[in-house]
Amino acid sequence: MVAKKPRVVVAARSAGGGGKELEEVDEALLAMHINRERTDTSADDLGDLDLTAEGEYRDFPGEHVTIPGGYSRVVERLAAALPPGTVRLGLRLRRLKWGGTPVRLHFADGAPPLTADHVILTVSLGVLKASLGNKDTAGVGAAAIAFDPPLPPFKREAVARLGFGVVNKLFMEVEAVAPSEPEEVAGVQPAAAGFPFLHMAFRGHVSKIPWWMRGTESICPVHAGSTVALAWFAGREAAHLESLPDDDVIRGAHATLDSFLPAAPRWRVRRIKRSGWATDPLFLGSYSYVAVGSSGDDLDRMAEPLPRGPDAAADERPPSPRLLFAGEATHRTHYSTTHAAYLSGVREANRLLQHYRGGANHTT
Ligand SMILES: Cc1cc2nc3c(=O)[nH]c(=O)nc-3n(C[C@H](O)[C@H](O)[C@H](O)COP(=O)(O)OP(=O)(O)OC[C@H]3O[C@@H](n4cnc5c(N)ncnc54)[C@H](O)[C@@H]3O)c2cc1C
Repeated sequence: MVAKKPRVVVAARSAGGGGKELEEVDEALLAMHINRERTDTSADDLGDLDLTAEGEYRDFPGEHVTIPGGYSRVVERLAAALPPGTVRLGLRLRRLKWGGTPVRLHFADGAPPLTADHVILTVSLGVLKASLGNKDTAGVGAAAIAFDPPLPPFKREAVARLGFGVVNKLFMEVEAVAPSEPEEVAGVQPAAAGFPFLHMAFRGHVSKIPWWMRGTESICPVHAGSTVALAWFAGREAAHLESLPDDDVIRGAHATLDSFLPAAPRWRVRRIKRSGWATDPLFLGSYSYVAVGSSGDDLDRMAEPLPRGPDAAADERPPSPRLLFAGEATHRTHYSTTHAAYLSGVREANRLLQHYRGGANHTT
């Protein structure tokens, strides 16, 4: 995430005096930090996070950066090294027959099937959960992949136990509206001030601000001086945001801005753009977390290729890995990130190289 300049504004509200007021402010500040943590982890309820596994998580060294032109530039650059025609887009996997060689891939919309010696599967944990076909995935059948034979119990259990939450971004194009005469505040120059880095502690019950807006910790310009402001939402608020018409979102944003920034200039939202990761059938959520009842071992199980190797004690050659797994949910220490996705892809490519060449292990 992009570093933000801290500025905390507590929503103005008259309250009883002294201790009660302080208590309310304490609670509001705590809720603000909880909301920040919910977006960082994607857990709707922080009580669902396994804190031991959280201790295994490692930040990648260095600054957070925004890739000019978007993340696809990285993928395009990597793909440019491949022979033309190697990458085929727009094929939606529906059935994966991995019981023998070759592996057979069947696609939606009548696209011709493909065969392969090895398949590295990188669909999201959300899509894998939908593919388990248990009662929690009712209604997402269109996203599911049929595994033939079904995934073995150790893999299914890891998929089921790990957490996969929803985080959405709401981008708002904002504009400072010149204050009308009575509202004018001496010395405020809307254009010069720019939209503030607003971190929000919702104190008490501010009735005009909708519940889902109270789940966001901040509304900040995407960079200092920008007229595009960004708010992050997690869990049920993120899912609800996906269901709202634009007008309702803008109304909720206005109620929030009017409450936190009552002095001139008045900020109005002109246009919005938001992600919809929960309802997108190719994702069905945003990123993984280690839920209570799961552990870092489950992330390792996610990474194990199929068929599973023999016991260390057995004097057998490991089977040829037919179905391999990569993606953020397969990385024990960097899960939930793009670098986990990248590093896990390198890991699986090296697994195949090792299989054929017995070469050095470059896994990360
Ligand atoms: C709001 C938000 C903010 C984030 N911020 C950051 C950040 O600041 N830093 C960071 O490092 N990470 C961030 N992440 C996380 C990062 O985006 C993910 O961890 C990463 O994209 C995961 O990559 P992946 O390849 O594992 O899976 P995905 O990106 O989920 O890719 C899975 C692919 O599988 C495809 N697919 C699914 N089903 C099928 C099917 N049936 N057939 C064919 N293809 C299929 C999908 O189309 C998709 O291309 C953020 C994520 C979100 C949602």
